[in-house]
Amino acid sequence: MSISQLARSIADSPTLRLNEQARVLKEKGEPVIHLGAGEPKSKVPMEAIRSAAAQITSGEVRYTPTDGIPELKKAIIRYMEENYGKVVGPENVIVSGGAKQALAVLLTVLINPQDEVIITAPYWVSYPEMVKLVYGVPVIVHSEDGRFQPRIQDIKAAVSSYTKAIILNSPNNPSGAVYSEEFIAEIVDFCEQKGIYLITDDIYHKLIFDGKSFCPAYRFVKQDLEDSKIIVINGVSKLYAMTGFRIGWTVAPKKIVAVMVNVQAQTTSCPSTVSQVASVGALTGVQSGVESLRYMLQNNRDIMVQELKAIDGIHVTKPGGTFYCLPDFRAFNRSSVELCQFLLNKVRVVTVPGKEFGMEGYLRLSYCGTVKDITEGAARIKWALDPNAPNEIYIGDRKLVRDWL
Ligand code: PMP
Repeated sequence: MSISQLARSIADSPTLRLNEQARVLKEKGEPVIHLGAGEPKSKVPMEAIRSAAAQITSGEVRYTPTDGIPELKKAIIRYMEENYGKVVGPENVIVSGGAKQALAVLLTVLINPQDEVIITAPYWVSYPEMVKLVYGVPVIVHSEDGRFQPRIQDIKAAVSSYTKAIILNSPNNPSGAVYSEEFIAEIVDFCEQKGIYLITDDIYHKLIFDGKSFCPAYRFVKQDLEDSKIIVINGVSKLYAMTGFRIGWTVAPKKIVAVMVNVQAQTTSCPSTVSQVASVGALTGVQSGVESLRYMLQNNRDIMVQELKAIDGIHVTKPGGTFYCLPDFRAFNRSSVELCQFLLNKVRVVTVPGKEFGMEGYLRLSYCGTVKDITEGAARIKWALDPNAPNEIYIGDRKLVRDWL
């Protein structure tokens, strides 16, 4: 069997391996606690379900225009006005099969072989691999301040004549950091001056805590939309608990969207018809579910941070949004994959290795589950790592006795 060089250059995922092991353990009746999840457990909005059901029962489920049905594009245009204060037209919008496909199609359109894309670490695991899939070169910029806030001077230092784009994700997966307004203003200004595309992945933009709100990059642009370097990626997955529907979108200058339509037409034809109709329901229906989710997550965040702070040796930076946090576990093990495997083997807690996000020695913990999962998960982690903890613990109805430390 001969596999392409490109395909071989794409990293395999320790997270998928750990998740599979956790699934098998759970199937065997093991009391696994999942702090690795990337999706809330809330229900899909009723309007989305009703719209999708009506579409299916009509018996008419066919191809749609490649860039999305007009009703959904209209809903996205309204969403842009309400949430970004930006007036855009239908030719500025393309709907794709999730934010992930939106980004993949966009990168196909923007990146030539060897073009560089700057990615701030910690980053969503897929960005570097997606850049590689279009023969681009990911350039990682680490934030040095311990709060996961990138610095404009570090980004400027990473720019070369090959830099084509910068990807920002705030609120951020995996750290939960919300980038400061000053930083967003500076980077918009810098990208406009240098002619570098600024891609903002805003998939968590309403999941921000402590009374703060989202700062769209558009707030600081000086150029007209059609000359603008700002490109927005968003979708229904996280805010509306619609991960399985696979709907995301891109807002960009018309000339970029037009070429994205060509690329998407030749790869997937169009996003799922039923999912598009469901997304119209979610975007135009009652919005209180998003605020309830945000409120629940803020409460969970507080509990998670409090529990982690009680564990000696773990350093946790309080997330400003999302449903993730990224505590520093380097005091215990500098290999995050080893530590995740250890926590799964010994105390049946699923976590995600920071290595996947460019942060070796850190673990990503989700707090989108129940309060019980958070408190019990943290208690098990503490027991596994704390040499002063009692020698025994009950997991489910099973007594565990420490054979390590
Ligand atoms: N961007 C970020 C930062 C994400 O965390 C995710 C999902 N984990 C996505 C994009 C992909 O979203 P979608 O389900 O819309 O493809």
